[in-house]
Amino acid sequence: MNLRRGSKVWVEDRNLAWVAAEVDDCVGKQAQVITTSDKKVSVLAKKLLLRYADEDDHGGVDDMTKLTYLNEPEVLYNLERRYALNEIYTYTGNILIALNPFAKLPHLYNIHMMEQYKGAPFGELSPHVFAVADASYRAMVNEGKSQSVLVSGESGAGKTETTKLIMQYLTYVGGRTARDERTVEQQILESNPLLEAFGNARTIRNDNSSRFGKFVEFHFNGTGRISGAAIRTYLLERSRVVQITNPERNYHCFYQLCASGQDAEKYKLGHPSHFHYLNQSKIYELDGVSSAEDYLKTRRAMKTVGISSEDQEAIFRILAAILHLGNIEFSPGKEHDSSIIKDQKSSFHLQMTAELFKCDVNQLLSTLCTRTIQTREGNIVKALDCNAAVASRDALAKTIYSRLFDWLVDKINNSVGHDQNSHLQIGVLDIYGFECFDNNSFEQFCINFANEKLQQHFNEHVFKMEQEEYSREEINWSYIDFVDNQDVLDLIEKRPIGIVALLDEACMFPRSTHRTFSAKLFQHFSSHRRLEKPKFSETDFTVSHYAGKVTYRTETFLDKNRDYVVVEHCNLMLSSKCCLVAGLFSSISEESSRSSYKFSSVASRFKQQLQALMETLNSTQPHYVRCVKPNSLNRSKKFEKLSILQQLRCGGVLEAVRISLAGYPTRRSYAEFIDRYGLLAPKIMDGSYDEKVIAEMILQKLKLDNYQLGITKVFLRAGQIGILDSQRAEV
Ligand code: ATP
Ligand code: MG
Repeated sequence: MNLRRGSKVWVEDRNLAWVAAEVDDCVGKQAQVITTSDKKVSVLAKKLLLRYADEDDHGGVDDMTKLTYLNEPEVLYNLERRYALNEIYTYTGNILIALNPFAKLPHLYNIHMMEQYKGAPFGELSPHVFAVADASYRAMVNEGKSQSVLVSGESGAGKTETTKLIMQYLTYVGGRTARDERTVEQQILESNPLLEAFGNARTIRNDNSSRFGKFVEFHFNGTGRISGAAIRTYLLERSRVVQITNPERNYHCFYQLCASGQDAEKYKLGHPSHFHYLNQSKIYELDGVSSAEDYLKTRRAMKTVGISSEDQEAIFRILAAILHLGNIEFSPGKEHDSSIIKDQKSSFHLQMTAELFKCDVNQLLSTLCTRTIQTREGNIVKALDCNAAVASRDALAKTIYSRLFDWLVDKINNSVGHDQNSHLQIGVLDIYGFECFDNNSFEQFCINFANEKLQQHFNEHVFKMEQEEYSREEINWSYIDFVDNQDVLDLIEKRPIGIVALLDEACMFPRSTHRTFSAKLFQHFSSHRRLEKPKFSETDFTVSHYAGKVTYRTETFLDKNRDYVVVEHCNLMLSSKCCLVAGLFSSISEESSRSSYKFSSVASRFKQQLQALMETLNSTQPHYVRCVKPNSLNRSKKFEKLSILQQLRCGGVLEAVRISLAGYPTRRSYAEFIDRYGLLAPKIMDGSYDEKVIAEMILQKLKLDNYQLGITKVFLRAGQIGILDSQRAEV
């Protein structure tokens, strides 16, 4: 890099990521710079990055690839300037970066806007999520190829809102104008509030956090009209039903039901603070949300997606039963290690639970407090102590809730209808982003596994796009290295030995514990470069993911990976006089009659689901939206650089930049190039040559050799434009 006094540069800063500075002096490898806040800093010259400081350029560029210097601080600074102007969308080539505005921007999302983006060539209008949705729709119609839009980002970054906007746009361009309330489009759109009521909850990061992953597939007929849809969901967080910590909440639907007035009375509910499953956290209300109104919205959505009034009634009855179930407490029974219902109050809740589930109260009681063990001599009834009874109660609540959620998804799918004849689809993926907390458990492991899969898909795609551009322009280019994450994926999912396989094995042996599981893991992967044993723990393991290292605590891994329904729970529910309740468990009785052991692995099933998802995605042309959360306070206008940088890294945006840097990242059309650098070779400009020839002559005259001439553009290696610019400045 050509540094001299006055050169505009970026210096890395521990708190602010990068700060703007000017070189004061540069001797050998060391440079003295003065930052914009007048601080003198001495740094290694090679650590500085060039800063583009065109004083006229206030608004930034709408596509990162148009940046004069494509480096981290320039990318960040560009987003910052745009965000300040409420320009929340920016492209990096075909990837859309969406910064959460944390403010309502109605002017951005009305019908007029949708109309504007309809059919407009990509890149012609300001970057927008509608432009991405439109590009996918056009590509599908024109090229007859299925598409997918992958929305990612950390919790609270805006994935679900973005997904809804994409869905809204697709139903707008692909919908029929029928007045019928129950069109496929209406049903798909109304699936959102319904699934949010049952699958979203307040967390510390987001008041409306999705606790499941979702892939919505729109089916189109030959004329580009929506003809059906299908929703697939992934890994609903089950533990939340029975356990929450302040200031989080349980799933919205419980609070909605409590606020429903008559229905709440009918089921003997009251304020959420009366229920153990809700009062473990003292947050009952959400800013700007009325649970009573949302209850009506949920009801309406149920009606639209075709859930009958009886089924609706049954659904809320089940929710009420779960709340009563959670209030059943136990105290030690007369016999050793047995338990009985604690008091009158618990008795009341027991009664209510049985009534609402429409099952026998004595059977419910014995299901909660005892287990039947099969022995050679016949069945033995074993009492459960209080802790075990509580665990049994909670397991029942979780199982019913998650089955109810799956039932809702099935119901929506059946009623919207899968168009078997459609070969044209657009899928929209709203899935949890990479997670790294202080405490990471099985859930984070699964989530990060999913993200590794998607990252691989993303890398391959970005590379492919680059390659296509080079071959279109007839440029010779061979790949240099890129960070391939196949080794992490192998570590996680390879059979017969990988983390998931070892975990399943541990779950199948009754004597295994998380200790034996971890020991096995380290025994098999003692020198895997992606796996480490943390210093201060025997049982934790650290994986070097593409987005950083994450240490997982294994204490609950085995338990959380086991997905089996206790036989007694299943029998109890099957005996219910309510068809919906019994129906939730009918498939299990078939499963267990078929296989002799009851263990089914959550991780393995998730792995299969991911595999199926990847197969679907691989048969489509992908579009990417990277949502970014600008600050942790969920406040508008606040731009926290370090965390944004981290998110750009995790979302692969910087990886995409890096990939492009490995080739010829700077591209200028011949006209643009001559316009800017023609003055470096005025003599050449005199002749009347072809633009491409002039460009080549300029480059030769300046003795640059890291370039290639494409059909319509000059391709330059990273840093070359800096040399050209500094020569230009000298003229
Ligand atoms: P999670 O992973 O927790 O589900 P998420 O990425 O789905 O998070 P959202 O629920 O979509 O995040 O967004 C969080 C909040 O940010 C929204 O409730 C909304 O208030 C705000 N928000 C997101 N996108 C927009 C937008 N385009 N315009 C206005 N507000 C937005
Ligand atoms: Mg969400």
